[in-house]
This record gives sequence, structure tokens and C-alpha cells, in this order.
Amino acid sequence: MSKILRIAVPIPLRRIFDYLPPENCNGNELRPGIRITVPFRGQKKIGYLIEVADHSEMPLSRLKPIGEIIDEEPLISTKDLKFLLWTSRYYHHPLGEVISSAFPIPLRKGKPAVLSSHQYLFTTEKGRTSQISDLSRARRQTELMRMLLASPQGLGARDLAGLGCNWRNSAKQLVEKGLIEIKRIPTLLSCAQSATPASYSLNPAQKMAIEQVSRAMGRFKTFLLEGVTGSGKTEVYLGLIEFALRQGKQVMVLIPEISLTPQLEARFRERLAEPIAVFHSGLSESERQQAWLCFRQGLAPVLLGTRSAVFTPMRNPGLIILDEEHDASFKQQERFRFSARDISIVRAKQLGIPVLLGSATPSFESIFNAKRGRFEQLFLPERAGIALPPVIKLLDIRNQPLEEGLSPPLVAEIKRTLAVGEQVLLFLNRRGFAPILICHGCGWIASCTRCDSRLVIHVSHGKLRCHHCGYEQIILKLCQSCGAQDLHPLGLGTERVEGGLGGLFPNAKIVRIDRDSTQRKGHLESVLRTVTSGCVDILLGTQMLAKGHHFPTVTLVGILDVDAGLYSTDFRAPERLAQLIVQVAGRAGREQKPGKVILQTHNPDHPLLNALIQKGYRGFVDNALAERKAALLPPFSFQALMRAEATNTESPMRLLKEVRNLAVELRIIDTSVFGPVSAPLTKKAGLFRFQLLFQSPERKNLHRLLELILAKVSALPSGKRVRWSLDVDPLDFY
Ligand code: ADP
Ligand code: ZN
Ligand code: ZN
Repeated sequence: MSKILRIAVPIPLRRIFDYLPPENCNGNELRPGIRITVPFRGQKKIGYLIEVADHSEMPLSRLKPIGEIIDEEPLISTKDLKFLLWTSRYYHHPLGEVISSAFPIPLRKGKPAVLSSHQYLFTTEKGRTSQISDLSRARRQTELMRMLLASPQGLGARDLAGLGCNWRNSAKQLVEKGLIEIKRIPTLLSCAQSATPASYSLNPAQKMAIEQVSRAMGRFKTFLLEGVTGSGKTEVYLGLIEFALRQGKQVMVLIPEISLTPQLEARFRERLAEPIAVFHSGLSESERQQAWLCFRQGLAPVLLGTRSAVFTPMRNPGLIILDEEHDASFKQQERFRFSARDISIVRAKQLGIPVLLGSATPSFESIFNAKRGRFEQLFLPERAGIALPPVIKLLDIRNQPLEEGLSPPLVAEIKRTLAVGEQVLLFLNRRGFAPILICHGCGWIASCTRCDSRLVIHVSHGKLRCHHCGYEQIILKLCQSCGAQDLHPLGLGTERVEGGLGGLFPNAKIVRIDRDSTQRKGHLESVLRTVTSGCVDILLGTQMLAKGHHFPTVTLVGILDVDAGLYSTDFRAPERLAQLIVQVAGRAGREQKPGKVILQTHNPDHPLLNALIQKGYRGFVDNALAERKAALLPPFSFQALMRAEATNTESPMRLLKEVRNLAVELRIIDTSVFGPVSAPLTKKAGLFRFQLLFQSPERKNLHRLLELILAKVSALPSGKRVRWSLDVDPLDFY
């Protein structure tokens, strides 16, 4: 009796499909998790075997056989598959798409899982004990032999290029004599390395943190490491990695964005003698696939990656570390909207290993979990070494004359800092020259025709750009409404401040870091290197600067404009603003010289700012958490957001109203529905966007509601005509 194959196909349908095994195979020997091809609506698709079953709900005559079997053995373990099934259920996202996103792109397309490797030359035992002088007449062989004897870790083609093009002949002769051998080594692992230990010893808080986590190795436990900026969290990670490696275990290290990787990668490589697999969007598809395969096979004991790396199979699971756990980039904002932080905890639980979340400014969710005893909290209360915490000062700029956003006291402070040869970091969270182009004659403003947004002026590219849909056009000279030649930039972006600084400090070397200035591959790395080497006087940038970078000689940090963040309608805005301020401030005075932070504001009495400065991040969190509790907002409740969009306003609204009615009829206890309302950015890229919010103090009830709703949505009359999506634990309401 032939078996039925249950297959997940990466399409937006929330169901799996039954197929028959191919000819000459009854299906019994096929293992869940393997990739296969299937005929699907006239196309060939890659599918994933979920289960081999005895029955189908469908008549057998209607089932088709699968196409080819791509993997003999599954690339993911049974535990991994279970984890993906759980993830699909939790996010209510189609299983096929969830599994597919766990694989690197070439594997998703059905490419074979082969490690690329290179030839490496090694001396043999005989080679090491024979006399080189015996080769004296073969000059090139002698030279090659000498090089290999000096490099016990082996040499590859690139290392040997200096010998001229004939070294392969010499190598062949040495192989025939039994003096050397040729082995293939995975490309990723080929760079020979040696470890340099830290030049200092760990402080008691660091030792304690390492000890606590090490003691939990081999079982599931979540730790929250809260260490002020510059307290040596990375040292704790390194200590734990060394500990895990000694036990032959692997460590997965997740970090927010690629902007952080170069520095961290360099530090890891310097300190660890083992191969490190790196996985982020700045690498090519095949490089990522190689990293994935090396980690999966246990060839690389350490993986350093961004959010999608959380799915990489682990051969010898030891520990998961997630740095800057508060960072919103751990949450994927399109299609499959998972949170790498949240699921790393589920994954650790499934693998039976500890997970360590680290941050100077932990998310409210994590602090709340620590308070409830779900996470064990570890603290690094002081800066490592001799560095002192920076002094933060609010600067009232009301009625002050501003020069391109800079107030006279800040300018004076910059002058003083530069005069003693120290570095300045200025932070403004808005790229471009100015956010608005306005007509002085009639008040017309240049707007995006496809979005509800203003076009941002980018002088260096001579363009007006929409930051929401990517639309761009040449900077206008004439008002499109009254025809006047009287258009002016309004407001402040990093480009404009850069120009202003150039005028004020003509002799200073100024560098701007934002998404516009770092688009070219490798550019950010080279800029960061110049900054670290101290050749830059003023560093100006957006939140890219806030993230974990270590700039040793920055002693003054200026935050140009915090006011915009004080007026947001998003309930998470204060949390984000506080994190940003603390993180940016943390770039000051990280080594011998003390740091100073100046925060320009029109709201010097604002309670948020004052709580933060007087009581620190934790004091601020306590106040803000009390407010969230009173309003029953996360982490005191759980949310899911249904978004719908279309080229007209009626159909998404109609769908969401129908869903709302459904939700109300279902009467699941303790659940509320809010909306539908238009999204804060109602029109984006030509689509009108609306949203409906579900909320409950009990996760279970919320998910019960979502399940019941999703089962019925596709049957709703407007369900087919409108694009909609569900965001579980949304971070962003845009
Ligand atoms: P964090 O990750 O918490 O921001 P880092 O690990 O980058 O902090 O450490 C900040 C600086 O302090 C680094 O230059 C690091 O080399 C140094 N450092 C870390 N631990 C110690 C220690 N125990 N003694 C002296 N310096 C240390
Ligand atoms: Zn006008
Ligand atoms: Zn637009």
C-alpha cells in the first residue's frame, strides 16, 4: 500500500498538500525535512516533506506523484523541523514559507547542498623527517618544501602564487616522493589563524556572568545580561564561547545589523583560533550558503549572523547569544514577521541549551520577563577597565540662535574638544539635506505622489526622494502650484549639518555615516576603520552610529534633536528614544578619557528626559512600565495586527470591518479588537493601508482568536481581492 506524502510548498496558503511517492518507491524510506520537487498548478515547485501518512482526505485518483527527490538525508534535524512547525503556528504564517526562509536562497531554489572547497598542501610525516638537502638540485621543490614546513596549517593556491606558475609540477613531484599530500578544505575554513588572548583579566562581574551561564550549559535557561555601554559584554560572550568550544560545543551569535559585524567579526577572529561562519545580507548568496553548511556540519564552531541566521542547523548545540537584544531589526518587517529574539528562546528550549540576551538598554519585554523570574538577570554595572560613565547634560535651546541645528554652547564645546585633539560624535536621526521643500510664495510642499509623505531633499545627489517608496526626481526649481522661483529647504538632515560643520570647522576632518553615505559595499568598514584609528575629528550620523561601535577616542557626544521623538503617537516611542539616547551617549569616553554628552532640546522639563538623566535607564523603565501596566499595553498584554491594503480605500476597510465583526461574534474571553483604522502612513507606494488590532492579556486567548479568524478569512467575500497580512507581536504600526 502506497504512502501519502504531506508536503509544505512555499506559497501564501495556510495548508499543506498531499502527494504520492514517485514510482519505484513506496514512501516509507523518505525522511521528513527533505527537499523534493512537486508539480503545483502547472509549475514545478520546491517542497518540503513534513510527514509520511497512511491516509489522505482526498481520493487517491486525484493525487499526483512528487517529482524529484533532492535530498537523500534531510538538511534539518527532526528538532529543527518541529521548531519550524511551532514557529509557523505561532506566527500563523504558511508552513512552506516558514521552512523555506530557514534555508539559504540557493537551497530554497533546489540547488545541491555542497560545500565548496579548495586544495591545500601539507607536509607528510615523511616530509617532516627527511632532509631537505636531498632535494638540493630541484630548486623549486626545495623552496616549496621550505614554505610548507614553516606552515603546519597548510598552504593553498593563493599562498603559493609567489612561486611562479609552475609550482603545481613541483608539488606533483613532492607528492610522488611521499613528502607532501594534497587535501581539500572547505573554502570558508581555509584562512589559517591563531588566537591572541585579551591583555587584561576579567573583572568580578564579568567572571560571575560567565560562571552563571557556563553552569547552565547542557540545559535550557534564558539569561538577560544587562551591562552599561562599555562594560565588557563582548568579553563575556568571548569567555562563554571559549568555554563552549572547550567542550566541543557550538555557539550561535546573533547581532542586529550588518553595520555591526565588521568590528565584531574582527574581534572574534583575533581572539578565537577556530573558524567562524558569518551570515548576513552583505554577503553573497553562495557565501551565506557556505556559512550555513559549515555550521550545520559542525565544521565551524561559531556562527556570527543577523536575524535569519537563527534558523541555521546546529550539529553540537552549546549556546545561543543574542547581542543588543532590544534592537528592532531582530524583527522581520515583511512577509514572515518573526522575531529572532523571541524564537531564539524557543529554539534554545527545543535544543536544551542556554540562551543569553545582552544589552545596555534591554527591551521592556525582557526586563518584565526578568522581573517575573522567567529570565535570570545578570548585571555588569560598571564600565570595564578604567573608563568612567559619561556625564549627560540637557541643553535648553529655546530662543538660542541655531546654525544648521547647532547651538552656540554646543559649538563652543566642539571647539574645546577639537582643540585638545579629541573626537566628537554628533547624532541626528534624519538623513538627507532637509525633510521638506517649501514654497515661500504660497506654502506648497513637494510631496510624493504615491505616498502620504514629503519628499526629502538630497543635495549631494541633486534629488528629491521619498523615504517610503524610493521614488526620486530632480530637485525642483519652480513651485508646482504658483510657479514662483522661491523654494526653500525646511528642517534639518545629516547632509545639511555636515555642510554647516564644514563652515564652522574648516580644518576638521568630518565624516558622515548614514544609509546614503554607506551604500557602497565595504564603504562602512573603511569609514569605521579610519574613525577607530583616530584620523577623524567629527563623526556625524544617524542611528547607524548608535549601535555597539567602539570609538576609542570620542569624548564629546552631541545629540542634536530629541524633540521629534517626544511627540510620536506610537506607545513604544519613549522606549526607543530612551534606548537611542543611552546607546548614543555610550559612545563617549570609552577608554582613558572621560566622556561628555550634550542633548539639545526645546523641552528641558520633559519628564521622560529628566527621569532618564536623573535615574538612568532602569529608573526610566520603572516609570514607563507602570504607565504601560495602567494602559494594559505590552508587555502586560499581547497584540496582533492585521494589515490590509489596496489601490482603493473601500475594499481594505470593508475586509477589516468584516473581520472585526467575525471577531466580535466569536466572543473569545479576554480579547479585544480595535479598529479598523487607517495606518499612520495611509498611502504608501500607491496603496491605501488600514489596520485592525487584536489584543489580550492572555497569549492563549489571542491565538485562539487568530486561529478561528484565519480559518474563515479566505471565505469572506472581500478576502480575495485585498492583500492582507498578520503581524503577531507587532513592533511597528506603520
Ligand atoms: P560592551 O560590549 O559592553 O559595550 P566591550 O566588550 O566592547 O563592551 O568592552 C569595552 C572596552 O573595554 C573594550 O575596549 C574592551 O577591550 C575593554 N574591556 C573589556 N573587559 C575589560 C576588562 N576586564 N578590563 C579592561 N578592559 C576591558
Ligand atoms: Zn508656490
Ligand atoms: Zn513615496
